[in-house]
Amino acid sequence: MTQTQTNSSTASYRDTYYTRTMVPSLDAAPLTDRIETEVCIIGGGIAGISCAYELTKAGRAVVLLEADQIAWGASGRNGGVVGPGFAADGAAIEKKLGMKTAKQIFDLSQEGVDIFRSYTETLALPGVDMRPGSLSVTRYRDAQAMQDYIRHKADAYGYQLDYISTEKLREMVRTDRYFDGVYDPQGFHAHSLNYCLGLARETQRLGGRFFENTRAVSMSRHGAGHLITTPAGSIQCQNIILCQGGMVDGFHKRLQRNLLPIGTFVTATEPLGDLADEIISTTAAIVDTRMACDYFRITPDRRLLWGGGMTGMALEPANLEQQMRRALTSVFPQLADVKIDATWSGLLGYARHRMPYVCELHDGVWAATGLGGHGINVGPIIGRLIAEALVENGQRHKVLDSYGLTWNGSMFGPLAADTVYYWEALKERYFEWRYR
Ligand SMILES: Cc1cc2nc3c(=O)[nH]c(=O)nc-3n(C[C@H](O)[C@H](O)[C@H](O)COP(=O)(O)OP(=O)(O)OC[C@H]3O[C@@H](n4cnc5c(N)ncnc54)[C@H](O)[C@@H]3O)c2cc1C
Repeated sequence: MTQTQTNSSTASYRDTYYTRTMVPSLDAAPLTDRIETEVCIIGGGIAGISCAYELTKAGRAVVLLEADQIAWGASGRNGGVVGPGFAADGAAIEKKLGMKTAKQIFDLSQEGVDIFRSYTETLALPGVDMRPGSLSVTRYRDAQAMQDYIRHKADAYGYQLDYISTEKLREMVRTDRYFDGVYDPQGFHAHSLNYCLGLARETQRLGGRFFENTRAVSMSRHGAGHLITTPAGSIQCQNIILCQGGMVDGFHKRLQRNLLPIGTFVTATEPLGDLADEIISTTAAIVDTRMACDYFRITPDRRLLWGGGMTGMALEPANLEQQMRRALTSVFPQLADVKIDATWSGLLGYARHRMPYVCELHDGVWAATGLGGHGINVGPIIGRLIAEALVENGQRHKVLDSYGLTWNGSMFGPLAADTVYYWEALKERYFEWRYR
């Protein structure tokens, strides 16, 4: 086993489907001076870049520090599936906060989807290549529950979804693994590394400053603001926004104690040509309904991109490629002989309640993190919420205040997370056996 990710000041992107199809990297120079700015953002994933773009657009002086390269972490190596919602289950949010607040929260998550789509289109971000549809599928017969879910989403949230019967589903996804489906015509999948690079470039064009290979090492109060040090420079600023995702490194110990890094895995086959149409005849991304779900899609260059698995131990199994091949051939035995071109892991940052932290921690220091497995829509909306808060004293982020900092369980946190995943997997296996 090896660590899922390690940062180093000279690291380059890990070989993934995304890096094989990426637009040119930013190649921003490391920080070597002492500089001043209004806002300093720590972490150049989708959360940090979204904050940087919104604040720069609103006229603030912004500096973003990235320990490696832009979107080197989860934002540049994920499944690419974009849809509304958060990592926390919608029903759990309703139960905790009531329907009215749950709807406000859902609407924010939908706004995040709209931001991703509209920036990609209006800013003409290259290589993002959005493909329509997302399809949620069950591994056991569950038609009634899915139809109830669709009705509830329409009645309570005004969000339209379509039920897909077993017969129709098996025309769209040629496997007998799945039984019922919910199709979201507003969902899509995309190249989130290219989105991040494109938005970072737009931010630079508006005057935002990015420094790659620049790890924030320490922060302290300095005059009326803060001083951040890096290996070869420092930044004097009024506000700090912490956007380190699951790659917390002790920079802000209190936040670190309240976040759990979770490892998860993706693989991409060689281009499949006509075989791609033989297994999947929809453009949609497909996600099963399990807690540690499988998700997959045909990429624009006709590979199967397949993701799944979770571990609280943040470790990458030595035989990861074999494990991923076993998972995808259990659904598509037709792919037994295809070549796998790249397999990789990534780290997610989770709060125990599975909702993001979007709040002022103290004295102008903000958290914009804990996006979990739903970051491609959540990153863009929390960027907007934080910019509203800093620029116009906006209060929309406060709807998330009920999800405050929650201790990660220290050394027991990863064990607890794995126990929950195993327990859920066991329950799901029973359902698969019981409702075949
Ligand atoms: C394998 C995988 C599949 C996923 N699939 C999906 C999906 O299909 N749909 C979806 O919506 N979400 C998905 N996600 C989740 C989504 O990718 C994340 O929620 C999101 O990218 C997190 O963004 P972030 O900006 O918070 O963190 P990251 O993208 O991890 O960025 C954090 C950055 O901070 C930097 N950093 C850390 N410490 C420092 C420091 N001290 N100084 C400077 N920089 C620092 C890191 O180098 C890193 O680049 C997936 C995630 C993974 C890993």
